[in-house]
Amino acid sequence: MNSPPILIWFRNDLRLIDNPALKKAYEISNELNTKILCVYIFEDYKKFAFKTGSASKWWLKKSLLNFDLELSNLDKNKSDLSSLKLFQGNPKNIFFYLIDKLKIKILIWNKRYETEGYQRDINLKKILEIKNLKVMTFDGSTLVEPSKVVGKKNQRLKIFTAYKNSLIKNHKIPKPLQKPNNLAIFKQINGTINLNHIKKNEKWTGKFNEIWQVGEKYALKKFNHFLKNKINLYNFNRDFIFVDGTSKLSPHLHFGEISPKFIWHKIIKNSFEDNNYGEQAFLSEIIWRDFATNLMLLFPNLNFENMKSSFNNFNWINNLENFQKWKLGETGYPLIDASMKQLWETGWMHNRARMIVASFLTKHLLINWQFGADWFHDTLVDADTAVNYSSWQWVAGCGADAAPFFRIFNPITQGKKFDKSGVFIKKYIKTLSNLDENNIHQPQNSKLKLNYPMPIVDHNFARKRALTNFYKLKKNL
Ligand SMILES: Cc1cc2nc3c(=O)[nH]c(=O)nc-3n(C[C@H](O)[C@H](O)[C@H](O)COP(=O)(O)OP(=O)(O)OC[C@H]3O[C@@H](n4cnc5c(N)ncnc54)[C@H](O)[C@@H]3O)c2cc1C
Repeated sequence: MNSPPILIWFRNDLRLIDNPALKKAYEISNELNTKILCVYIFEDYKKFAFKTGSASKWWLKKSLLNFDLELSNLDKNKSDLSSLKLFQGNPKNIFFYLIDKLKIKILIWNKRYETEGYQRDINLKKILEIKNLKVMTFDGSTLVEPSKVVGKKNQRLKIFTAYKNSLIKNHKIPKPLQKPNNLAIFKQINGTINLNHIKKNEKWTGKFNEIWQVGEKYALKKFNHFLKNKINLYNFNRDFIFVDGTSKLSPHLHFGEISPKFIWHKIIKNSFEDNNYGEQAFLSEIIWRDFATNLMLLFPNLNFENMKSSFNNFNWINNLENFQKWKLGETGYPLIDASMKQLWETGWMHNRARMIVASFLTKHLLINWQFGADWFHDTLVDADTAVNYSSWQWVAGCGADAAPFFRIFNPITQGKKFDKSGVFIKKYIKTLSNLDENNIHQPQNSKLKLNYPMPIVDHNFARKRALTNFYKLKKNL
């Protein structure tokens, strides 16, 4: 085995099953009787939305540690050396260094679609090919590569239903690839950093250790549990915030510990319509994830520019004191406050709660969606630039396929509907634990002495103010 190793660049694809880049590296390594060098790079992105957020760093560190072990378990030659070599910096410089040192001839990776890296990677591939490298890239993170999902006139799609219909009708989702039986891993080189490089706030993220199990093995376990126990009622339960009715696969999907194609094929019957409503609703969410990536490719600045430019003149108030109260869960609206505390305590928030708190920030408080999206980016373990920023724009009303601005969630009635007796609220706001369902959503009406704030803004006033601002904007168009 003296020929140079094949270089595989791992990114948000930290799994063995259905990993097209790894599968290809495995096949070539067998064909050429050579080893595989596994590399992960901490990139120095410029914009906050593309950097790894604080909670995500906690996940990433564990995921890399776990993946290194999984790779080593498959290695034909056992040793104590790590299988996954960690580098920091510009991928181009790191590849040039490795090409020079090890005479690499083949480089393989799964694509990422984040704006800051996407075009850079296309250019990088060209530069490396000019240097006579064989570069192979794959789609490992979506059901179908978003640019291939188009309408009748070959146009790119900005509306979810059209995207979903086209994806289902016109595409055969590739079957997931099996994990390699074994690997010949090249280990005789050091990376430039180790996992201690990932600095995180231990005091805050330490509690995530009790909540999440990170890595491919646990992603599969959780998915199987969901299939067995929850998916058939998913369409019904998914909206009830106090019910544990969703998969909680989002961080695993974000870091690529499980692939959407694998999920799809475990569920799909002969056709989409043959699946029950629970399964269809769940598969639709997996398509939403692809759709968000599609939007990021169509709106590369979705992290800071309104997709609907008509919102550029919207009269935001951006009161920082109110923003702080929202972040801390001190708005005086129990459902909002419990949800924000859930985010801080667990690094995750229920989808309906995400919609309600985002609506509250942008419509009740008239704070620009970017403030909220950045806070989510930093505190979610599943922070995903495409999904997060497009969802915030969707809720705020300025997204491509957005909920209309005039649809303003009432945090009190949402609470009554989706957490009727306040089970969820009481879990995160202990001071409200003695309230019954008549008072839990408006504690200020209770006769009990509670250490709980008054609402920072009156709902009816806030609703009227938001609508006035919105109609003013429309009039000036
Ligand atoms: C303001 C806002 C911000 C959000 N930010 C993120 C984010 O940063 N990362 C993230 O993964 N999701 C985000 N979501 C989408 C959704 O809330 C989460 O994916 C979901 O709550 C994760 O829980 P789950 O895995 O149990 O989801 P399930 O209900 O079990 O859904 C399965 C999977 O489908 C995908 N999915 C579900 N809902 C959506 C959606 N609306 N759009 C796109 N994909 C979806 C996720 O990958 C999820 O894991 C956001 C939603 C809102 C309203």
